[in-house]
Amino acid sequence: MSVPETMKALVLTSPGEFEIQQVPVPVPGAAEVLCKIRAVAICGSDPEIIRGGLAGIWPPAYPFTPGHEWSGEVVQVGPEASGFAVGDRVAGEAHKGCGHCRNCLAGRYTICLNYGRAESGHRHYGFITPGAYAQYNVYSIKSVKKLPAKVSFREGALVDTAGVTLHGMELSGITAGGTVVVIGPGPIGLIAMRFARILGAAKVIMVGRGSRLQTAVKLGADLAINFEQEDPVEAVRRATDGEGVDEAFECSGAEGTFAQAVRMVRKGGSVALLGVPPDTVEEKLPYKYIVHNEIAIYGSRANPNVSWKIIEAIAAGRLVVSDLISHVFPLDDFAQALSTFVERKDGAVKVVIEPNGPEVGRR
Ligand SMILES: [Zn+2]
Ligand SMILES: [Zn+2]
Repeated sequence: MSVPETMKALVLTSPGEFEIQQVPVPVPGAAEVLCKIRAVAICGSDPEIIRGGLAGIWPPAYPFTPGHEWSGEVVQVGPEASGFAVGDRVAGEAHKGCGHCRNCLAGRYTICLNYGRAESGHRHYGFITPGAYAQYNVYSIKSVKKLPAKVSFREGALVDTAGVTLHGMELSGITAGGTVVVIGPGPIGLIAMRFARILGAAKVIMVGRGSRLQTAVKLGADLAINFEQEDPVEAVRRATDGEGVDEAFECSGAEGTFAQAVRMVRKGGSVALLGVPPDTVEEKLPYKYIVHNEIAIYGSRANPNVSWKIIEAIAAGRLVVSDLISHVFPLDDFAQALSTFVERKDGAVKVVIEPNGPEVGRR
């Protein structure tokens, strides 16, 4: 496969400023592959990074290219990148741990103790390491997972998001035949609804508002609670004969929802936090209530060791993600794609960029 010397990339030039530039195509180093980016989904964290609200951390400096929910194909293999070949279809992961700290050795590489120390081998693509809003990018072979031909590149771009959900569910567990509540019917919440079922939940209650709550109903929520119209804690308790649900998944990051989730679960229930709140949110929690009712609380940052499960679930037709992609844009129209996502135009759920055009013969 011929690789050009330069490519188009979205480049952040300063907080809130970006442009499409022609830049050099990177060269894969040891245990790295160069990938042609075929689809990259806008994540809820991207607008904040682009706005510059976290400048100095994400990105550490300008210019910078973000983007981390991607799929593509291997077009060049670096030295010692065994097991990969030109033409491999892959989906990406954002985190690559150092590989030798306590957490990495325990498989928890998304909470690597050497976070941000590039010299340790750590990478966080699209956050501190250059990302996928470009026609090509280099990745560690630890951060790419092979995609079977059955899974489209567009579906592949949702593997990362779906993995965050599954990781949270693996932490909390799912009660077979039980009831879960999902707060926040965005992309993560909608995938949580589906995965809870795959893992054996009998009923899923969705809490939200507006067009996204309607989407959840359309996609099969057993009960939809509009928090603008009723108290969501009371409504969940009412729906479960006063007992509460087995597990609550907070997928919105909104203020007040963590405490609500705690009050929604049964005695001995679990709360998993999948949504990322703004830095300013300091949640007030019912401390004694949590102790007396033995409520377990889990934070889920990312997606360690779950991508292969997501890919298999999509390939087998068990997990459907393609209908969550509401809009697709070329890289040149990034500004329009971003505003569509941020303003949730035309019921936007997942907005995908195709830096090298659409995959032929797929939808
Ligand atoms: Zn993401
Ligand atoms: Zn590590």
